[in-house]
Amino acid sequence: MSQQSHDGRSRILLAGTPAFHRDMRWIQLARQGLVFVPVAKRDCTLITGRTADVQAIVYQAGARAADTLAFLKAMAARQSDLCIILVGRNQKPDTVAQFLRNGAFDYVNWPCSLSRLTDSLTSGLTNRQIFLEVRNLSGDLATANQSLAHERDTLKQFNQRLAGLNQLTQALARSLQPEDVVQALFTGVPALIGADLIGLVRTNPEHVWTWSKDGNQEREQALNAQLLGRLGRAPQRVTAGATTLRLVGSHPMPSIRSDDALLALPQPDAHAMHDIPLAIGPHAIGVLHVQRAGSQPFTEDEQQLLATIGTSLSLTLRNADAHQDLHDMALRDPLTGVFNRRALDEPLMRELKAGLRYGAPACLAILDLDYFKTVNDRLGHTAGDLVLRELASLMTDTVRDVDMVGRYGGEEFAIILPHTSIEQAQPLAERLRNLIETHAFDVEDGTVRLTASIGIAEVCNPAIASVEDWVNAADTALYHAKAQGRNRVVVHAPVPLAPVQAATLCVAA
Ligand code: GH3
Ligand code: MG
Ligand code: MG
Repeated sequence: MSQQSHDGRSRILLAGTPAFHRDMRWIQLARQGLVFVPVAKRDCTLITGRTADVQAIVYQAGARAADTLAFLKAMAARQSDLCIILVGRNQKPDTVAQFLRNGAFDYVNWPCSLSRLTDSLTSGLTNRQIFLEVRNLSGDLATANQSLAHERDTLKQFNQRLAGLNQLTQALARSLQPEDVVQALFTGVPALIGADLIGLVRTNPEHVWTWSKDGNQEREQALNAQLLGRLGRAPQRVTAGATTLRLVGSHPMPSIRSDDALLALPQPDAHAMHDIPLAIGPHAIGVLHVQRAGSQPFTEDEQQLLATIGTSLSLTLRNADAHQDLHDMALRDPLTGVFNRRALDEPLMRELKAGLRYGAPACLAILDLDYFKTVNDRLGHTAGDLVLRELASLMTDTVRDVDMVGRYGGEEFAIILPHTSIEQAQPLAERLRNLIETHAFDVEDGTVRLTASIGIAEVCNPAIASVEDWVNAADTALYHAKAQGRNRVVVHAPVPLAPVQAATLCVAA
């Protein structure tokens, strides 16, 4: 028989009259290892509520079926898992069926054989044992189900984060301008981890960007000050009126902290803040600062996520820099560093359109060194290169910030002068011509002196309808400057002229 009690033997309440308790069958069954505990029927439900190591009840059903049913219901109400065997006389089959429906395991007609009792108790106790095991198993299953549901939710959240991270890194990878990178960052990070204040500080070039969910300028200003403080800078004013993205500061870098010092900065100890150092190899390039409202700290998973974003961001910023460098290189003349001819196409077209549509004044000056070939011939090509470099510096230093200097061909340079009438362009060109004439160009073994001829054409001119026309007009003026003896400025007709330097200023017809 199945044993459940602490001493290894099945303990069975024998609920009935004293005469019932004294029946020989219980003594015989006790020899088989069962322990019978005689109790009065009225005490039965009370005792089962207190006794943990009872496995079964043999209950003497009286003539009143209702009493037995009340007992069975009381046991059911206690959610008892005891095996209940009823022993009674002359009950109708319907009543017996009702007993069984209400929780009795068996009904034994009294008096009965010993083997009938043995069979009933054996199968009742075994049945109860199986029931308990199944119940435990389903309890375990419920727990397993619960933890599976938890795992599923975690996995779902993880998946969502992964998808968000993927989206963000793709957006970062697509961005080639730093501003686009920052915009992608300020869109992606809040969506991923619910940040409400973000700051990005870069070391080279030195920039601070801040973003807040509610556009709170004070909070952004405070973060800006904190981030600039890390670079050893005084706080800057946040640009007013911007929407979500603010470029706060852009400075030269005289006394910035070393890369290592930036990486070693202590992490803020407030709960819902996290700093992610940005680095390329061993070199720190900035810090990403993320803040979230409330005191819920960033979990390890979120910190891991932010670290991944940091890595992606560092690479993206480096790519954007590389792209910018390439872009610059494609527009620069490698010898002199000024714009190349291709780079001038777009601004020339822009000024031409503004001139044609709105009559906006602009001038194009083309400068060519006089007898430059002789420099190469006498001093060598390297000396000629040095002169060209120095000439480019002279020109960029002389013109205004809005003007564009480009190398148009060998020793021929172009200057685009936006918002400039011919009356304003002439003195500027003359000043440049004079500067070149009086300048001693350094070459390896000494200095060399040179002059230059300059042709100017204004865009607002009936003869000019295309960039080509404009360049040809300036070229024609230059040709005339050469033809008229060089070292002079000539403007393209038909603009009436005011004499600038009587000896050198001429008009090209
Ligand atoms: P002109 O007064 O008529 O302009 O006489 P020029 O000798 O300057 O004649 P031109 O403008 O036709 O000569 C251009 C010379 O510039 C030819 C070439 O030796 C020189 N040159 C062109 N590009 C370079 C360059 O990149 N480096 C050097 N060193 N010389 C160059
Ligand atoms: Mg020349
Ligand atoms: Mg030339």
